[in-house]
Amino acid sequence: MLETLRQFALQIAPELSAQPLYVVQQPAIYPQTTYASAYALKFGCPIIRQVVKEAGDWIGNGPAIVIIEEPADSRDLLATIVHETAHLVPSKKLSEDREPTAAEMVGAFRMAERWAETPEIHQGPSGEPWGGAHGIDFIRRALHLHDRALRHGHDVPFDSLGVAGHYYGLSWAGKYARALGDEPERMRSLTFAEIEATDPPQAFARLFDEDVERWRTEHQATED
Ligand SMILES: [Zn+2]
Repeated sequence: MLETLRQFALQIAPELSAQPLYVVQQPAIYPQTTYASAYALKFGCPIIRQVVKEAGDWIGNGPAIVIIEEPADSRDLLATIVHETAHLVPSKKLSEDREPTAAEMVGAFRMAERWAETPEIHQGPSGEPWGGAHGIDFIRRALHLHDRALRHGHDVPFDSLGVAGHYYGLSWAGKYARALGDEPERMRSLTFAEIEATDPPQAFARLFDEDVERWRTEHQATED
């Protein structure tokens, strides 16, 4: 199953095949969390490295998608992979593989603990629910990947993507997809670095700006 998910991620983001990509179950030694079903490690992680290495599957430094809890519906599972893959692009070449120091292992555990215990670290400075990681660039990436998934014949519902929508205080993902128009189709063969060197359609940028404006107004109103 994990290999199938890995292949799916590579199918929608071929640029990730330039180096190893790992899709693994959350290891038991990792701090556990209940607020997410998966997460992405764009720059790798020494703990995951150690676990994968012990399993004999380590083939070099690379990003990872860690599944905490597999959704029962296979369509939701693919949606989870679309979401996490959107955190891994544009693909970045990682440094050469090497044994982490003891201090680096401790640091990685501390970071994982902090991540597991404090969901609010994902929010923006004023409590914006989209924070630094799920804003306009992320939405654009995820919708491109979603479009590619559909094109490859995978049925992945907007509502399971964890992209925009009520949870992030933003408009529904389908509305963003409409505003993005045919951009994903036109840029299907491009890398995400190439895509992001271009401006998104004005309607798409405007929708996000309006959402942010509305959220700020509402947020201000509840604070007063
Ligand atoms: Zn995310």
